[in-house]
This record gives sequence, structure tokens and C-alpha cells, in this order.
Amino acid sequence: ETEIGSADKEEVREYFTNTGFGRWNKIYSDDDSVNAVQKDIREGHAKTVDTILSWVDEDGDAAGQTFCDAGCGVGSLAIPLAARGAVVTASDISPTMAAEAARRAAAELDAPAAARATFRTADLCALDGFYDTVACVDVMIHYPQADVDEMIAALSARAKRRLIVSFAPKTLAYSLLKKVGEFFPGPSKATRAYLHAEADVVAALEAQGWTIRRRGSTASKFYFSNVLEAVREA
Ligand code: SAM
Repeated sequence: ETEIGSADKEEVREYFTNTGFGRWNKIYSDDDSVNAVQKDIREGHAKTVDTILSWVDEDGDAAGQTFCDAGCGVGSLAIPLAARGAVVTASDISPTMAAEAARRAAAELDAPAAARATFRTADLCALDGFYDTVACVDVMIHYPQADVDEMIAALSARAKRRLIVSFAPKTLAYSLLKKVGEFFPGPSKATRAYLHAEADVVAALEAQGWTIRRRGSTASKFYFSNVLEAVREA
């Protein structure tokens, strides 16, 4: 048995533990010293998170529900979910990301909400537990489609009724790749970006028994992300 995405995964883990941590921690903050590209990505990412939170709010049932946020970064989704009353188990392959998410949760949430959120270091393919909703936001971009298929299978095994995943759509692939390439110059191979055809992501979800219920899409100059809400049909 081969380890899922072993080569890419180690590079990604190393990147988000070190160089990438500082860069993304700043993007996912309100620090004014970001450049125009980083600001664009910050705003695009905030829209993706808002789309997911708007779905949760429309359903109106976050309180008491269990959420698993796989690849949680600095807690941009996990923290507002806990604030809404959800019980959140968040994890990230990068220990520095998971630690920053825990720090932010303690700083930003009141004590009862903070107590509803836990953060740890883990590969999303090696999670345990069973959650009402599993979310995996802006993580797939770091992996080729074969890994995404396996990640969706692993996440599906953890999700009771809903799986939310986002990915960078393959539409306009060439121009996006160029832009991403410009944003991530330098030697680190961990900064490769993979685009995914929505049909491939949907097929991977359907293969795990999911039905797509809601779709969202955010596109700005430097940020592209489609988000899918998949549910188990009764
Ligand atoms: N989901 C967060 C958000 O939307 O704010 C963070 C997105 S950030 C672009 C990608 C995150 O995925 C990084 O924090 C990275 O460490 C994490 N990651 C990458 N591969 C992972 C894996 N195999 N398991 C868990 N986390 C992973």
C-alpha cells in the first residue's frame, strides 16, 4: 500500500510549517502590510468562508452539531463555527498552523466557545471520529487529482451527513497557473498549485455516495475557489 501523495505531502507539510506559515498567517489576518496580491487572496478566501458560514446559518442548526475542519489553517472557519455553538475538531498537517489556530481561538472566542473547539496536528487522511459535517477548505489545491480522490474517500469516512470541500477550478487553467506561478516564485516546490475539474471532484464525491446540494464560487484576480456542499441522500 502506498502512502497517499507522499512526495507532495511532505513538501506541503514542510512549507506550511515554515516559510508558508508566515506568509499565510499574514494573509489570513488583518495585518496591513500585505501586498496587493495577498490582499486579493485574503478577500477571496474570506468570501469562500462566508459562503460556507451562510449555508450553516441558512440551515440554522450549527449549535450542538459536530464539525471536523480538516486542514484548518489558522482557524478561519473553525473559530466562527465554534462561535455559532458548533463542537469543532480542527486539525492541520502543519503544527505551526494548528498552534496558531488554537492561539486565535483562545484569544477571539469567549470561554464556552473556546472550550467547544480543539486543534491538533494531523494529516487529513489519518483522522478518526465521526462528525455531522466535515469541511476541507482550500487544501485540495496542493494535491493532484489522484490524491484528491483518496482524500475525499478518507474525509467521507469521517462524515455523517455533510462534506464541504473547496478546490481551485480548472477553468481558465492556463492563466490561473500563470498567476499562481507569479505569486509563488522561488525554489519551494511545495508551492505548486493543482487545479481540479469540477466534474472530477463531483465524481469523487458521488463515488462515496454523496449528492451535491449547494455550490459556491469565488473568483478574483488571484484567488479562485469553488466550494461544494455534499450531503447523504436519505
Ligand atoms: N482551510 C484553511 C482555510 O481555508 O483558512 C487553510 C487553507 S491553507 C491554503 C491550506 C492548509 O492545508 C494549510 O494550513 C496546510 O498546512 C493544510 N494541509 C495541507 N495538506 C494537508 C493534509 N494532508 N492534511 C491536513 N492539512 C493539510
